Amino acid sequence: MSLFDKCRAFRAYAETVRQAVGDPFYPPVQRYTAEGAVMGNEPRAMFGGNNYLGLARDARVVAAGVQALERYGTSSTGSRSMNGNLALHETLEAELADFFGKPAALVFATGYQTNLGVLSSMCRAQDTVVVDEYVHASLLDGARLSGARVRSFLHSDPRDLARVLEAHSDTAGNLLVVVDGVYSMEGDIAPLPELVAVARRQGATVLVDDAHGAGVLGREGRGTCSLHGVATDVDLITVTFSKAFASVGGAVLGDAEAVDYMRYTARSQLYSAASTPADTAAALAALRIARTEPWRGEHAVAHARRLASGLAGMGYRVVGGATPIRCVRFRDDLQVFKAWRAVMDAGVYTNPVVPPVASPRLRLSCTAAHTEQDLTRALDAFERVAAAFVDPREDER
Ligand code: PMP
Repeated sequence: MSLFDKCRAFRAYAETVRQAVGDPFYPPVQRYTAEGAVMGNEPRAMFGGNNYLGLARDARVVAAGVQALERYGTSSTGSRSMNGNLALHETLEAELADFFGKPAALVFATGYQTNLGVLSSMCRAQDTVVVDEYVHASLLDGARLSGARVRSFLHSDPRDLARVLEAHSDTAGNLLVVVDGVYSMEGDIAPLPELVAVARRQGATVLVDDAHGAGVLGREGRGTCSLHGVATDVDLITVTFSKAFASVGGAVLGDAEAVDYMRYTARSQLYSAASTPADTAAALAALRIARTEPWRGEHAVAHARRLASGLAGMGYRVVGGATPIRCVRFRDDLQVFKAWRAVMDAGVYTNPVVPPVASPRLRLSCTAAHTEQDLTRALDAFERVAAAFVDPREDER
């Protein structure tokens, strides 16, 4: 038995897929253009990013990044707690707190590190973290790192949440309910008012990871909690800058005392370098634009609605809610990979998703920057290959 046996087994699987369709993961982008991305020397309409507001190549955001590079250099070369804390980080924190309607914010280097740091510092072994079965991996990893008991409830089901909370109501520690605002692989919105009401009844604290809702949903893009009018009832909100905010980094928002505690105890903050000046400045510029151009989120959602109705009309099984994300479901992994290849060859970039991430599907995400032409191109690509992938009998199963 060797440490590397599993690598060999994985390679055999990966080779089978590569021989059938090429490598569906890590496809390299040569450059971005106004129309999308150039890959393998061919232009592709981009339906595989999370650039929801279309700001990742916006001239104002790029200029803010360039200015910060010139002013501060390329790197902070260390943790914020040691030498990497810039006035820029603190300005971003103040503006995020104001935008999301919370007393305080703490900026981390990535969204993943945000969730890891928040959960691992806030929870202890005697606590119980109750997660929606589809929450993001970073939340699960943070919960596990904390040593707390982790239990899950059925996706977006308040009754099942109540059942799980009741089963743990007698335990000595605290209860923390953790959900996503928008589920990345389902494209649906959590029923926050119902979930928060159940959590409150059991005296549980609530954390919402709004990575995919922040900047997009709610008034001026204030996120899923704002959309549902529960921003003050949710104790902690986490966001990432790698999607609507066109950069990389993340933040937790909440009560000043809790945020201060995390500032000094979250290990993913203390033991990792600060987000770069350029990334921080780009996120700040994108946040300011998001506030003043709320039509961007609305356009992304409207584009996804249009895409979904076109795909459903062709017989594809489409899932998603009033968000920029839609997923097209397939029978098995191989069908997903084949469909990914066929659609890519027709000029459209999508994301193949297979277990254990989620059941087999292609994930498509829309942005405010998409044009009528982009949507038509995507729909044409799916229509061209529909005969091979739409199975009318699926509906009967
Ligand atoms: N939470 C959710 C729901 C996400 O989808 C992601 C990224 N896919 C993250 C957190 C992590 O964010 P980042 O990529 O900025 O580290």
